[in-house]
Amino acid sequence: MTVRGRRAAALAVGDELLDGFQVDLNSPALARFLGERGWSLERVQVVGDEEKVIAAALMELARDHALVLVSGGLGPTLDDLTRHGLARAAGVNLEPSPEAWAQVEAWYQRSDRTPPPSNERQALLPEGARSLENAQGTAPGIHMRMDSADVFALPGPPREYGPMLETYLHPWLASQDVEGSVRRVQRFHLFGISESLFADEVGDWMERGANPLMGVTAKDGVLSVRLVAEAEGEREAQALLAARATEFTERLGAHVFSEDESDPAQVLGMELLSTGTTVTTAESCTGGALAQALTGVAGISGVFREAVVTYANQAKVERLGVDEELLRAHGAVSGPVAEAMARGMAERSGADLALATSGVAGPGGGTEDKPVGLVWFGVHFKGQTASLERRWPPVGRERIRRWATAQAMVLGLQAVRGQFPD
Ligand code: ATP
Repeated sequence: MTVRGRRAAALAVGDELLDGFQVDLNSPALARFLGERGWSLERVQVVGDEEKVIAAALMELARDHALVLVSGGLGPTLDDLTRHGLARAAGVNLEPSPEAWAQVEAWYQRSDRTPPPSNERQALLPEGARSLENAQGTAPGIHMRMDSADVFALPGPPREYGPMLETYLHPWLASQDVEGSVRRVQRFHLFGISESLFADEVGDWMERGANPLMGVTAKDGVLSVRLVAEAEGEREAQALLAARATEFTERLGAHVFSEDESDPAQVLGMELLSTGTTVTTAESCTGGALAQALTGVAGISGVFREAVVTYANQAKVERLGVDEELLRAHGAVSGPVAEAMARGMAERSGADLALATSGVAGPGGGTEDKPVGLVWFGVHFKGQTASLERRWPPVGRERIRRWATAQAMVLGLQAVRGQFPD
């Protein structure tokens, strides 16, 4: 097993996975399960309910991987063909298994029933295979060797598949004294840097052959970076990862807002809760999205009491005490007004931290001075007030509001972490 090491493949079986009505949920669950145990999922294949296609896919996957996980197609109906595909791929017969039949009967006996004849199909096993009892459903799983791979076939419904990973795959993985490489993973979540600037900063760290290998995904202005180090032993992998992580932090640490959670609202919410910092928001262009994001954090009622949406200038004056003169001189979308909103809301609510937004989300309403995509943020924290300007391209009202929400959360985080904007 030295060459193929801790490498696994997944085969998801089912016509419903190919017709666009059911997404494959089992492979992502498997990837997480394996990743936590030092294995990696290298390939995922999805096929329909066709014996020959299942068998061909299995033969290829078993040739190239130490472990193959099949999901679905173990039911009692004629279109459930996974066990036939397994037998065909291994070049063996299917035979009735008293062990598997006892497991099917036991499932029915739990509700005082006897299995109908169609369930006999579920008690067929490829010669030499082991039947895996399913505590959540009728279909037993199957474990067999194919070439030098271990193949596990588990039932498709995720509420059956997940528990069977724990019951059968976990002990199998633990029993493997596999030589080969070990992988260690570290994540960073960044805000306030574009993908292209990021690419310039990291240079050849992102090359496909690099070790650690770096991957990056972008969502709502957040860049999520994954570093994967691979080495022969645990200690080497850890050392490789630590060295790169240190360099990464030196170069890009100013943009990193979290290492484990990618949602800035969750990170801010947890920070506020753990430090007992009370919070409020006064919003214009985000229309309540900041309050919505913060109230999505479990337990936030401990630090969040109230928030306002002040869309009209008059509301900013009446509810937040923004000076009319300030509005006349700078306009609503400006640093001074965003600051006045945050300060006014902090004073009126008594909260430690106040976040405010005022911007042009579009598609209309932009001017040369204040184009669509311009958003001003105000932040007030324990007596200090500051503002921040962002100019985004006109990417659509919804996206600008989402980016602005993420930006406001990060601004709040920076303020409570002592990185108050100048
Ligand atoms: P059982 O006989 O217990 O239903 P099975 O192995 O026969 O198990 P399938 O008949 O293939 O499972 O699928 C049953 C249901 O499980 C499907 O209708 C689908 O809703 C769900 N399912 C199957 N595979 C997946 C998958 N990869 N991801 C998410 N859902 C799945």
